[in-house]
Parts: sequence; C-alpha cells; structure tokens
Amino acid sequence: MAVVPKDVIDLCERLRSKGKRAWIVGGCVRDLLLGRTASDWDVATDARPSELTAIFPRAIPTGIEHGTVTVVQHGRHYEVTTLRGEGTYSDGRRPDWVEFVDDITADLARRDFTVNAMAIDPVDARLIDPFDGRGDLQRRLLRAVGDPKERFSEDGLRVLRAARFVATLELELEPATKAAIRPTLDTFRRVAMERVRDEWLKAMKARAPSRAFEVMRETGILEVTCPELLEGVGLGQNKYHAYDVWRHGLECMDACAADPVLRIAALLHDVGKPKTRAWSDKTRDYTFYDHDRVGAEIAEPIAARLRFSNDERARIVSLVRHHLFHYTSEWNDTTVRRWIRRVGSERVDDLYVINEADVRAKGLDCEPDLAALAALKAHVARVLAEGAALSTRDLAVNGHDLIRELGVKPGPVIGELLEALLEAVTSDPQLNERNALLAFARDWLRAADGVAVKGGA
Ligand code: ATP
Ligand code: MG
Repeated sequence: MAVVPKDVIDLCERLRSKGKRAWIVGGCVRDLLLGRTASDWDVATDARPSELTAIFPRAIPTGIEHGTVTVVQHGRHYEVTTLRGEGTYSDGRRPDWVEFVDDITADLARRDFTVNAMAIDPVDARLIDPFDGRGDLQRRLLRAVGDPKERFSEDGLRVLRAARFVATLELELEPATKAAIRPTLDTFRRVAMERVRDEWLKAMKARAPSRAFEVMRETGILEVTCPELLEGVGLGQNKYHAYDVWRHGLECMDACAADPVLRIAALLHDVGKPKTRAWSDKTRDYTFYDHDRVGAEIAEPIAARLRFSNDERARIVSLVRHHLFHYTSEWNDTTVRRWIRRVGSERVDDLYVINEADVRAKGLDCEPDLAALAALKAHVARVLAEGAALSTRDLAVNGHDLIRELGVKPGPVIGELLEALLEAVTSDPQLNERNALLAFARDWLRAADGVAVKGGA
C-alpha cells in the first residue's frame, strides 16, 4: 500500500502550525487510492501566495501569480498551491483570470476528471470527494467533472489527458465524456504539439498504450495529430498477419519494453505499408515492397511535427528504416558486419526489441518464431567480440596517416578513401593492419586515377 511521504506530511503540518489548512490533492490522491506510486505530490492550501512565501522563504516561486510555489525537501520537489477557482477560458489553453478561494470544493471543481478531483487532509486522513471520484475508480470509469463539453472547450489538452488516463489507469471512458470529445476538437486543435508529444510519451508508460490510441482514433483526436496512422485502419495484410496495419502497429507498440521513444518507433514502424501495398498474382496475396524506406520518409515529418529532439527523431526514423531484416543461415560474418554498419551499432539493441515485438504482434494462432532473431543476436555478439571494425575510427590508419604516408591532399577524397578501406575490412578483417591498409590505399588511389601517390612503384 502506498503511503504519503513524511516530507509531505511535514509540509502540511508546517502550514497547519501557521493556522492554515493543507490537503494533498489531485493525481497523488488518485494514485494513493489505487495503491500506485504517485509521480508527484501536490499540496493545496488556503494560505495566500504572500503567506506562502513567508512560510516557505526558500521555496521557488514557480507560478506565484497562480499561487504556486515549489518547496524542495531532501532533493524532491513539491508544488504547494493556493486554493483557486477559475475564470473563463477564451483561448482554450489557460484561464483568463485566477480567483483564490477558501473552499477546497471550489478548487476540486476546476479539475478535469472526477478521479483527479479528490483531496485528503493528511492530518486527519479524511477524504474529500465531492464528485464521487472514488466510486468512479471502483467502477473503473474516467468521467469529466461537470459538463464534459464545457470542460473540454475550456482547455484543449483535457481530451488528450483523457485518452492517456484510459491507458495508464486502465479505465473506460464514461460515454458522455467520450461523446464530448469530437464536438470540442476545435479547442484541441489549438494545443501546442510539444504538449501532444508529452502526452504521447506519458501514455507510453501504460501496460498497453494502445488503449490511448484507440480512444484517439475513435474520437477524432488522431485525425488532428497523426492522420498518417489512420490509413492503416482496416487495411488487410497477408497470410503472415492476422491484424490490419493499424492494429499490428498498436500490438507491436504494446509488446515493446517500456521505453517511450522506442514505443513510438514501434507504433510507426509500418507507417509505410498503406502507400506500398500491392496485389501479387503470383502469391495471390498482398506485398509491401519498400515499406521500410517509404515508412522512414513518412515518419520523419511526423517526428518533426511532434517536436521530438533531433536525437529522438533520428532514432525513430532509423528504427522505422531498418526494422525489416530476415536473418538466415546464409548470412556470413561479412553480411553481419555490413548489417551492423548499415543500421548503426548503437541501434542494434533497439532493433532486437522492435523485431521481437513485431514478430509477437502478428496475431497468428501459433507460437511466435524467435529463432532467427536469437541466431542473429548470437552472430552479432560473436562478430563484435572479435573486435570487427565498424566505423572508420576503428581502422588501423586514420586521415593523418594517409596524408603523411601517401601524400594525399586533405579534402573529401580522404573520407572516400577511409570508407573504401572500411568496406574492404568488412569483407576481410585481416586487412585491418597498418601496412596492409596503406598498400590497399595506394592501389585505390592509383585506380582513382590522376592522384599522385608518394612511395608508390
Ligand atoms: P500524472 O500522473 O501525470 O502526474 P496527474 O493527474 O497528477 O497525472 P498533473 O499534470 O500532475 O496530472 O496535474 C495534477 C492535477 O492537476 C490533476 O490530477 C488534476 O486534478 C489537475 N489538472 C492537471 N491538468 C489539468 C487540466 N488540464 N485541466 C484541469 N485540471 C488539471
Ligand atoms: Mg501529477
């Protein structure tokens, strides 16, 4: 059973000793009732902002105009917020004005869902639950506080939070709450893509993030943020797959270990299939030639639109690009070294995870066949243990050697030559020795014509 951390209780007692009231409130109360570990602990108090800064002089004034300060205890951050009601929302993002109130019920009434609108006074352990959030948790329902259409028109992020909570808390969306999403999508359209990305990433922490994406599809949210994924809905595949392209992407995401960015790549891995599906008279089935390459081209602008960092974007795109490989007994050491070079050694572990999830997500009524993947892993491990050169940095000569020993002029030719050496070493690892490489380089330069070579015959 989860418990309230002592630092939080101390914080509330401190407010109490100054004649103020304090409650833990919102998501942490919900998580406490669910027996889950809360990600953060929020405190609500009737102390006004000026009193808060007096009581906690070292607190960080993170949002003092809205009555929020951050108190740091033993390295952990706790948000303490003055009770507030809220004014009208004219921009669909934040209230036009904030009203400080004395009443915890008014503070709870501005919150998004009943399960998020509960408070506990930790001193007498009394639950304040004016909207029956506890009952909804027992019924496993996610329900908006008050009129869902009104609440979703105030703040466009709420519909996406709804989809996320359906997945992370494993709740069902209460029918009137769900029905209110489509008519309020205009408000949702104004939400910044950074926030959409953050909600996607939070959804990825669920056991089955697909629950969030099914809600997004059914309610029209996904049409606004990622219509490319919808092209896979109802799109049948071939005898290797039981699911349509959409469901297969969801299953693959769910089957991946809980690394949020990796799960996004899994969700997108077959995004190229709708554009490449073709009927083959020969096999009397559908094919998806090049869907990995086309998919990478589609994934790039999606990752950019969702404002992923450059590194995250590169990771997502390269996993979509390289997710397709079929290891067979015909792969020799050179094939394996080439494969590692092509996908990048830093992506190999990610690709194992995606490939296993991809196999498991076919939905066929038989044990997933992971033998080929296991054999590839063993082969890669052996090749890496032998110290194979996988990048030009691993070569026994560098650019300076080429300039000094062969008189090559600095310029792009150096890079080309190093690549040619790496290619040769990939086929023949014995060649990765200084003199052998210099000899190879001389021949290459001669063949590349017109380049004067120092020390040649
Ligand atoms: P998490 O587990 O992600 O922390 P949470 O419910 O605690 O989920 P927070 O963003 O930490 O979410 O917000 C804390 C509380 O503030 C919520 O539980 C809810 O009561 C309220 N809240 C947050 N965002 C909104 C919003 N957009 N509209 C209304 N209330 C909100
Ligand atoms: Mg929280």
